[in-house]
Amino acid sequence: MPVQGSCHCGNVRIELPAPPTWVADCNCSLCRRTAWRTAYYPPSDVGITGETVAYVWGDQMIGIHRCPVCGCGTHWQTLGTDFGKMGINARLLDDFEESLVEVRKFDNLA
Ligand SMILES: [Zn+2]
Repeated sequence: MPVQGSCHCGNVRIELPAPPTWVADCNCSLCRRTAWRTAYYPPSDVGITGETVAYVWGDQMIGIHRCPVCGCGTHWQTLGTDFGKMGINARLLDDFEESLVEVRKFDNLA
């Protein structure tokens, strides 16, 4: 069943074919600050509407997008290399409840 989500102000809306069955809890230098819970989907499965701005750092492989109005992190996507997936901040999804999905700890401390 499709699931939808949005940033706090509603500028950015997300639509996915199904809710995530698991999410990543990553400890990299960015995620430990932003507290994303990331769900992965093929880019062709993801619908995103609304303007976002991207933060790019390090190896410049991905852009980390957020709403320019309310600041919520929304998704990340590749800047060129085809990963076959993109990351969605599951915290923005309607009815997301972390305790109801598997949370996988990603150890990317660097
Ligand atoms: Zn917003």
